[in-house]
Amino acid sequence: MEITALPLPNTLIESCLSKGIRELYPPQAACVDAGLLEGKNLLISIPTASGKTLLAEMAMASQIARGGKCLYIVPLRALASEKFEEFKAHGSKVGVATGDFDRTDNQLGSNDIIVATSEKVDSLLRNRTRWLSEVTLMVLDEVHLIGSEHRGATLEMVITKMRYANPQMQIIGLSATIGNPKALASWLEATLISSTWRPVDLRQGVYFDGTITFGGKTEPRSVRAVTKHDDLNLCLDTIEEGGQCLVFVSSRRNAEAFAKRAASAIKAGTPDSKELAIRIRQLRDADQPNLLAECVERGAAFHHAGLKREERLIIEEGFRKGYLEIISATPTLAAGLNLPARRVIIRDYMRFTSGMGMVPIPVMEYHQMAGRAGRPHLDPYGEAVLIAKDRQTVEKLIEFFIDAGAEEIDSQCADENALCAHILSLIATGFARDTAALTDFMERTFYAFQHPHSRSMGRIVGESTRFLVSAAMITDEEGQLSATKLGHLVSVLYLDPHSARNILDVLQKSDQVTDIGILHLICTSPDMPRLYLKSADTASLKSFLYKNGDDLMVPLPYDSEEEEIWLAALKTALVLTDWAEEVSEDKMEERYSIGAGDIYNVVDSAKWLLYAADRLVGMEIPAFKKEISQIGIRVQYGVKEELLPLVQLRNIGRVRARRLYNAGYTNRDRLREAGLPVLTRILGQHLARQILTAVGAKVPDLQISGKKEPSLYRTGSG
Ligand code: ADP
Repeated sequence: MEITALPLPNTLIESCLSKGIRELYPPQAACVDAGLLEGKNLLISIPTASGKTLLAEMAMASQIARGGKCLYIVPLRALASEKFEEFKAHGSKVGVATGDFDRTDNQLGSNDIIVATSEKVDSLLRNRTRWLSEVTLMVLDEVHLIGSEHRGATLEMVITKMRYANPQMQIIGLSATIGNPKALASWLEATLISSTWRPVDLRQGVYFDGTITFGGKTEPRSVRAVTKHDDLNLCLDTIEEGGQCLVFVSSRRNAEAFAKRAASAIKAGTPDSKELAIRIRQLRDADQPNLLAECVERGAAFHHAGLKREERLIIEEGFRKGYLEIISATPTLAAGLNLPARRVIIRDYMRFTSGMGMVPIPVMEYHQMAGRAGRPHLDPYGEAVLIAKDRQTVEKLIEFFIDAGAEEIDSQCADENALCAHILSLIATGFARDTAALTDFMERTFYAFQHPHSRSMGRIVGESTRFLVSAAMITDEEGQLSATKLGHLVSVLYLDPHSARNILDVLQKSDQVTDIGILHLICTSPDMPRLYLKSADTASLKSFLYKNGDDLMVPLPYDSEEEEIWLAALKTALVLTDWAEEVSEDKMEERYSIGAGDIYNVVDSAKWLLYAADRLVGMEIPAFKKEISQIGIRVQYGVKEELLPLVQLRNIGRVRARRLYNAGYTNRDRLREAGLPVLTRILGQHLARQILTAVGAKVPDLQISGKKEPSLYRTGSG
């Protein structure tokens, strides 16, 4: 099926042609035949890299041509920006919904395409965002994540709510290969398009003792033992042929160790890889050793969530351009990253799981990693290779991962903790005003579809409403349910009702609060991603407790599992305290053995929870509002209180603010008096001019070649 023959806008056709896309892949053509461009619901379950994004783009373009509005739901924030950039390139009016959860983002509705995570859509629904009812196409990227333990329930509720509100809307579900696609398709009232077709042939095999044994009919292949490490030999083998390798390992430390080993085996880099290393070095303190830059210099890199975002982007770009030959990565990044390589090595296929010890990774996850093998148009084929520990394991791995069918996905809506927040939001937004309406709504979920005779949904609805009544978040008057002021606030703040109640209960019992006490309290909340506890942490945490235990408000639990959570919350709270005390990022990374990415994630979530706690306390316990607001602002900027007037200026972060303060420029008045030459010495001329303009000082014109520089310095608005 030729692209030019399709009823699509010229901009999309031209963009396809410019990328060399002339003809649809067979599964894509099947989708068009099934009504993709005519508003039909489709569940598209096809392998990675077989062109799902283009399908979504075609469906969206034809909706927009008919005056429609499209909502594209992604699982991760990073993917939201990636898709936003991609769709924008085709000339559509695109918006991306990120940021705070308690906003309606009405202006976003002027776009034709809005990209958002499922959590963000949920919060837009809770805030009764008007334009949501105008959506005529909802694309669900990675819809199989309905089965994911952590995020699945929210995605399922968002789909159910959106369908309830917009029954005519077209739905396109994009899914990895799953075991029960028919069930999911019929719940979505969608035609199922399922295929194993791939643009590049994929060979999947298991390596042991110098040989890769493939599943299917492919001949075994021997691998030369250049070093004493099998994993590295597998990489060198592909590099020798002119390909690149992606190696999946189980931990950040393993990823770093592998990249280090790979870099020394590759020996010399290229001018391009050296150039990349220079860019990486610029992102950190030049006096510190920089393992990533050392590896990248020689053509290898590691990639995990502990890295800075800029570091990850440079590595991804370097790999795509072929400047890097090997990347070792943790599996968390396999999900979203579009980074194909000729050979993908799945080295660590066992994973430690709490309560179960070492267990094999899910087959779906294996397929997601294996699917990265083979770059269309560039590689003759892709290879995914597992590494067996002994000869007997070879066959077992082929059977378990390669030949096995994909796993079925199950609804995660059977959990009271996950559902309680959704039930509150259904009541607060008026989706359900009584128990019967709640039950009717719940019957539209995938859970009810999968378990038509189960009574557990009714039980969970009952338990949740009882809890919400006892938590003073809803009232139940003879079956008529309505949210209280507190209930409305908790719903729009996107807080788990249990953690909101817990924050209020703990504060209500306390006579006074300390910064570490507040931070520890929010870090014990299930909404907060906590840092991992390492065995080396326990001693320093216990010593902290010995000296400062009285400052904490949440008592140490007796249960050992809960104690671990409590201690991890304390470690996270200490990281936040250091951040607000202006400890340098390098020192924090060393002190807690964490990465810059971890600091960013923890601060980002804490900002939100502190803001939410501030709003809750403002309504319920005004006596503590001042303390909570203050630590909230300090965590937001990462500074002591004295720097707050400075960090509120644009382009002045914690480091520059401290430099200014220490030089005696402690507030806007002092800055205004400082004058250009002095501030230039501290900030450089460009920024000094911006800051002076922002604080309302007169700035002499900049003379370049005798001419005035026109608009460059008009940006500082404070
Ligand atoms: P998926 O989302 O299924 O993993 P993508 O949509 O990212 O896959 O597509 C992978 C690559 O294939 C992209 O670079 C895309 O431009 C390209 N592609 C998609 N459809 C076609 C086609 N019909 N012909 C050639 N290349 C295509």
